[in-house]
Amino acid sequence: MKLNFYSLSSGSSGNCYYLGNGSRGILIDAGISATSIRRFLKDIDIPIQTIMGVLITHNHSDHIRGLEILTRKNSLPAFTSGKIWKSILTPQRNISSDCIREIPLQEKFHLAGFDIEAFPVCHDAPETIGFHICAGGKKITIATDLGHICETAAPYIKAANFLVIESNYDEEMLVNGTYPQYLKTRIQSDNGHLGNHQTMDFLADNISDDLSTICLAHLSQNNNTPEKVLQALHKTFSDKGVILNGRQISILNRNVPTDMIRFSD
Ligand SMILES: [Zn+2]
Ligand SMILES: [Zn+2]
Repeated sequence: MKLNFYSLSSGSSGNCYYLGNGSRGILIDAGISATSIRRFLKDIDIPIQTIMGVLITHNHSDHIRGLEILTRKNSLPAFTSGKIWKSILTPQRNISSDCIREIPLQEKFHLAGFDIEAFPVCHDAPETIGFHICAGGKKITIATDLGHICETAAPYIKAANFLVIESNYDEEMLVNGTYPQYLKTRIQSDNGHLGNHQTMDFLADNISDDLSTICLAHLSQNNNTPEKVLQALHKTFSDKGVILNGRQISILNRNVPTDMIRFSD
């Protein structure tokens, strides 16, 4: 099965990803305007009618900015846990009630030819989830906002053939940067974001032969650069004697859509 992945935007100014199987697809998060999402889908020749739904990871605005309009104007169903819906559905947000789909955690549901399972991650929102998506014998895991990789999330990340994982900040840039101390502490906490070395340590310690593609996501604008991410990757892997062995590595741009990343053999 052909699996196509695009990152429309990744980082604290907005997250939105597309995963398709040739005929149908889904979005993961809608953290940029609905206009930008529609424009980008048009540019890559994907009719919005072929999008079967949007999976939502949590209620932070960089993940739901375009959700209201996508549900109202495009009648796009949105899928997330009951607790996350509760945190999204404020009186100020007019989400079309026909589009609200509540999903259980750690139980498979079926959408657009994908078997999807949401799993909880640790982050400073009322609840945050990642997604483990199976199609055509391939497993895709997406985990973009998490302060550490807890025991519940780890198996989903380890099992992936295609992994989209956060590498949010360079530890030195954050410590020496201009953010106020409370914000630095929040970002570094177990409920904040993953630093480059945290992500790379986990990957180097747990890399499986079945993992073929790693997309490094949700880079901080002020506390990270793609070069720092790559340096951390190569240094950690070489220190631990782990080789990448031809695996595809992609660093997802903050504001510019990526080219298509093909998740297939
Ligand atoms: Zn975020
Ligand atoms: Zn967040």
